[in-house]
Amino acid sequence: MSDQSKGFDTLAVHAGAKPDPTTGARATPIYQTTSFVFDDVDHAAALFGLQAFGNIYTRITNPTTDVLEQRVAALEGGTAALAVASGHSAQLLAFHSLMAPGCNIVAAKRLYGGSINQLTHSFKNFGWGVKWAENLDAASFKAAIDENTRAIFIESLANPGGVVMDIESIAAVAHEAGVPLIVDNTMATPYLCQPLKHGADIVLHSLTKFMGGHGNSMGGAIVDGGTFDWGASDKFPMLTEPRPEYNGVVLNKTFGNIAFAICCRVLGLRDLGPAISPQNAFNLLTGIETLALRMQRHSDNAQRVAEFLQTHSAVEWVSYAGLPNDPFNAMKQKYCPKGAGAVFTFGLKGGYDAGVNLVKNLELFSHLANIGDTRSLVIHPASTTHRQLTDEQKSAAGAGPDVVRVSIGIEDVEDIIADLNQALSAL
Ligand SMILES: *Cc1c(COP(=O)(O)O)cnc(C)c1O
Repeated sequence: MSDQSKGFDTLAVHAGAKPDPTTGARATPIYQTTSFVFDDVDHAAALFGLQAFGNIYTRITNPTTDVLEQRVAALEGGTAALAVASGHSAQLLAFHSLMAPGCNIVAAKRLYGGSINQLTHSFKNFGWGVKWAENLDAASFKAAIDENTRAIFIESLANPGGVVMDIESIAAVAHEAGVPLIVDNTMATPYLCQPLKHGADIVLHSLTKFMGGHGNSMGGAIVDGGTFDWGASDKFPMLTEPRPEYNGVVLNKTFGNIAFAICCRVLGLRDLGPAISPQNAFNLLTGIETLALRMQRHSDNAQRVAEFLQTHSAVEWVSYAGLPNDPFNAMKQKYCPKGAGAVFTFGLKGGYDAGVNLVKNLELFSHLANIGDTRSLVIHPASTTHRQLTDEQKSAAGAGPDVVRVSIGIEDVEDIIADLNQALSAL
């Protein structure tokens, strides 16, 4: 049932899964095993030589994880996907397939704080550079590209909140330069936005957030759009040059429109190793079954909360693309017509101290560094997630001293608003 003609909600329940052939189990079993027995010596040789698909060792493939991969690929409209231990390891493996020392990534300044750290500090140790696009428009990305650029990296709905990126125009700039556009679709999920349909080449996820949706399991995914022509230049040797460890196989020739996903698996995941546990793959699959129901409720609740905050006297501004007067409302209509998601920021007239106190006063909201839980969550980025950034980086990332970020849950919206009202009024 991974048939692309099926509706989104049907795919969310069925894609990649079928009753277990051995036991008839209807839910996908948790294949809690590290390794798999070969049929015979020839079968083993074919698996190791990439001449046959199959399971060898759970670091590289696992049947529970395989269902998760097929499901995420189907929901994004991609050709294949790779599930890994976390969103950050998905980013690591995706860039590992594209980069070499001296190469750079052109990235949006509006990113998850952890991604800014990863790109700025850890990737430097691999000799991978990052060039930040000055602004969020396509021209800024174009201006940052040079001959060593190997990818553009953006979020669809950008963290900490309120921004909807112009995927189509930025994809055009990437393609003109012969590099892929990689979109982190964590905050939107494919229910609200499908970046591949707007020209993106690769989609990344932290499945930890809305995809799993219950705040109980870590995971990440890389989705291959299947359309990028890796062989059009010599920029991507991992995909286009013979692999000595696989008898000279050339990945893009052998695997065509799933070459990128294969590269991330058989080189990246094999050697860097951030495999997802089968138990987490199962938990995330269970969450994804209700993705459409949850995301609509998250977005509808967030819309109501944003409208409420806009009218409160302690609030200076609200940045939510679902508000008609928001600068990103037109982008929202184009890229996320069903809703602007659950995560957004607002500014308090009382600045840094008011931010800290609001978090203290809230009762229903949990104060923690996560998004995409069924529960409503709050954080004051300047004193927590974005604390390690410079003041300039904080403001560029939308995390100035007065900024509060919320991830609106699926509780009764009246209860969410009542909690915010008491906490704001007590400031
Ligand atoms: C959380 C998050 C990540 C990192 O994902 P982990 O699963 O925590 O490693 C990356 N991008 C965005 C937008 C996120 O919200």
